[in-house]
Amino acid sequence: RGSTTFDPAPTRGLGEIPQAGPPDADAAVGAARAAMESPEWSGMKPAARARLLNRLADALEANADEFAALETLDNGMPLRDARFFHIAHAVETLRYNAGWATKLNGETIALSGMGDWHAYTLREPVGVVAQIVPWNAPLAMAAAKIAPALAAGCAVILKPAEETSLTALRLAHLIAEIGFPDGAFNLLTGDGETAGAALTAHPGVDKVTFTGSTEVGRLILRAAAGNFKRVTLELGGKTPVIVLPDADPAKAIEGAARAIFTNAGQVCNAGSRLFVHETLHDEVVEGVARIAESIKLGSGFDADTQMGPVISAAQRDRVRDYVRQGVDAGAALRAGGRAVEGEGYFVAPSVLTGTTEDMSVRREEIFGPVLCAMSFADEDLDRIAAQANATDYGLGAVVWTNNLSAAHRLARKLKAGTVRVNGGGLDPALPFGGFKQSGWGRENGREGIDAYTETKAVAIAI
Ligand code: NAP
Ligand code: MG
Repeated sequence: RGSTTFDPAPTRGLGEIPQAGPPDADAAVGAARAAMESPEWSGMKPAARARLLNRLADALEANADEFAALETLDNGMPLRDARFFHIAHAVETLRYNAGWATKLNGETIALSGMGDWHAYTLREPVGVVAQIVPWNAPLAMAAAKIAPALAAGCAVILKPAEETSLTALRLAHLIAEIGFPDGAFNLLTGDGETAGAALTAHPGVDKVTFTGSTEVGRLILRAAAGNFKRVTLELGGKTPVIVLPDADPAKAIEGAARAIFTNAGQVCNAGSRLFVHETLHDEVVEGVARIAESIKLGSGFDADTQMGPVISAAQRDRVRDYVRQGVDAGAALRAGGRAVEGEGYFVAPSVLTGTTEDMSVRREEIFGPVLCAMSFADEDLDRIAAQANATDYGLGAVVWTNNLSAAHRLARKLKAGTVRVNGGGLDPALPFGGFKQSGWGRENGREGIDAYTETKAVAIAI
């Protein structure tokens, strides 16, 4: 049984993706468990795991053009973004985590009880890990999951999104060519309700790491309860972008537009709520609206395309519905709403003003190129932070200011896993994850790899 994967612009079927069911999940878990018990994988020296990951990074880099083309075909993103952000980031993530393989040390611990003790901790791989990723950054997200897990010595079962499995399938070929031991890496394609759910409920899986919607995150938590799987969740966001009165307006305009329109807004960390001090509000909002109106939409393969389609007809309709709901509830549409020429699931970049906290456009994650802009009169940082924090999410926050003290103070007050001041990007060394309903745990950095280990304490009477 298979399902068709689509090119979102021009809309056409690309091929059939196998639909894995519970027997395939059993087979994958069996292979992964066997790897965890095999000398080839569980007995492999850390430096050898590092070498394998570095070889995979080299192979991915050598085939970057092909991977970028596959990503653009399957997801619709501009080819430039695929090549120089998504694939490049996947390569860097593999290399960064390869470096951790040889540095997963425990500690020696001084005990205070009676007697003489030598006590220490070990960091052991957590075991078989199911890794479920969404369609908005398919390969970059897959790399962020598999690299630390393999570096830590876990056995992986990757479940890409049904809509975008092509780069994961191609990656599986590279992994096989490079010579990872059998069962260390496994790929299951198919939909979440079947393939994904079979993995998250499976008693042979020790940990689930998931990136996706908050709604499915909740289902995964419940499924994981059966055998107390370890769970890491990277969920949705409603990132505030705050422009203080002393900010450089030109930079803030450019940055605010990039924060919401990159990847057609299909970014968990998209800056979807823009708070601008009243002295700059009109200038900044007009500037962002002008950029929105000028963005060239088209196929990801056209060299002059600045924004591709969204992933599917359903996603296009969902995003347009949100804009309509905002307007019906009294918001003003400052950009967007225009029809987009060309065949594909296009949504015009949109800017809404006059939204209020009770509107769905302000509260819910839209996952499209839709910005809610508002002004504030206050200079009180507590009240500014309170507005920005008025959401169930807590993934990211962005501040534009040249006031050093205000930047640091706001960074402390904002309830978000990542605070960026005056721009800044993703880095495999920087922990990433959410406060509140944006998730559990962190990816990237030291915490990211630690999350694939169990701590074992050993105490020896001497
Ligand atoms: P989604 O519906 O939650 O799907 C994500 C993945 O989970 C897909 O592989 C999906 O499979 C699978 N899945 C669906 N139902 C499942 C179930 N019952 N059991 C196990 N797996 C299941 O999310 P989406 O709408 O595709 O992706 C967008 C969401 O991802 C947004 O909410 C966004 O904020 C979030 N996201 C978060 C981050 C972060 O790091 N925090 C990064 C990027 C995206 P199928 O799609 O194949 O059915
Ligand atoms: Mg989905």
